[in-house]
Amino acid sequence: MDRLLIHAAFLVAVAAQAQPFQLPTANHALFDQGGEERFFVGTVGKPWTTGTFGCVRSGGWQMHEGLDIRCLQRDAHGEPTDPVLATADGTVVYINTRPSLSNYGNYLVVRHQVEGLEIYSLYAHLREIRRDLKIGQAVQAGEPIAVMGRTANTREGISKDRAHVHFELNLLVNDRFASWFKKTSPGQRNDHGEWNGQNLLGIDPRPILLGQHEPGAKFSLLGFLQSQTELCRLFVRQTDFPWVKRYAALVRSNPRAQKEGIAGYELALNFNGVAFELVPRAASEIKGRARFQLLSVNEAEYHRNPARRLVAQRGNRWELASHGLNLLDLLTY
Ligand SMILES: [Zn+2]
Repeated sequence: MDRLLIHAAFLVAVAAQAQPFQLPTANHALFDQGGEERFFVGTVGKPWTTGTFGCVRSGGWQMHEGLDIRCLQRDAHGEPTDPVLATADGTVVYINTRPSLSNYGNYLVVRHQVEGLEIYSLYAHLREIRRDLKIGQAVQAGEPIAVMGRTANTREGISKDRAHVHFELNLLVNDRFASWFKKTSPGQRNDHGEWNGQNLLGIDPRPILLGQHEPGAKFSLLGFLQSQTELCRLFVRQTDFPWVKRYAALVRSNPRAQKEGIAGYELALNFNGVAFELVPRAASEIKGRARFQLLSVNEAEYHRNPARRLVAQRGNRWELASHGLNLLDLLTY
């Protein structure tokens, strides 16, 4: 190979490595034309689409916040043995090895920094988590971290033939979740600290994995987040909450607020409640005195993806529903 070709090959290799996320098992059927049946596991008696991310269950009214990825290999008893791999370089932040305490069963959470954004991958229903893994330990993309299984604390459980890894990519709502939960749900157990599903907002890993896989793709996680479809736009009368700092890359500039002082933030939420755009607002730009104000609703998006019930229509008026208020309360706590 001449030097130019070697250089080109090296650049291709670097570009391939630069893609932040990898598939979390050896099942790559996601990338095959018509490979969905071999990649996703649907719920009992339902098509593969119920194993994808989104409002895909109970006629659209139930959210599934991850991908259910089919197993490829089994032991003599028919139990899955697929290694589960870290999707990206990161740090282990949570390990649950008490499957009876979660419908995720044994699960693992890893923190990643991608384009300045903190993203958390979650791997659930694991048979076994690598014993030497500890909180705070660094893992590399593609490194085996667990073995696929079917653990869960739900009554119906997961049958052998549906064995899968439930894989999520999440944004973290609030570091003070445990304290908020104690205040808002007195007497209720919170076994997983801030690694409670309520505190993790999922984004769809499928378009991310597919977008990165396209030849010559220049995938950007920030671009992906910024191009989410808006469900609603609202205002929060709060200037200092963890999301603003953790996801500072999503904050737009507003010279007027910067000049006059920031009185709160206008937020655009996608259907799952991810605040993907934040605009600081000056007091002079805000009408009303309410702590949270619903500014607009994209009705078409609400009808497409209603499962989170963040907003509701009362007569011909839209308002924040209890789930929406709850999310904003936690977000700004
Ligand atoms: Zn699942």
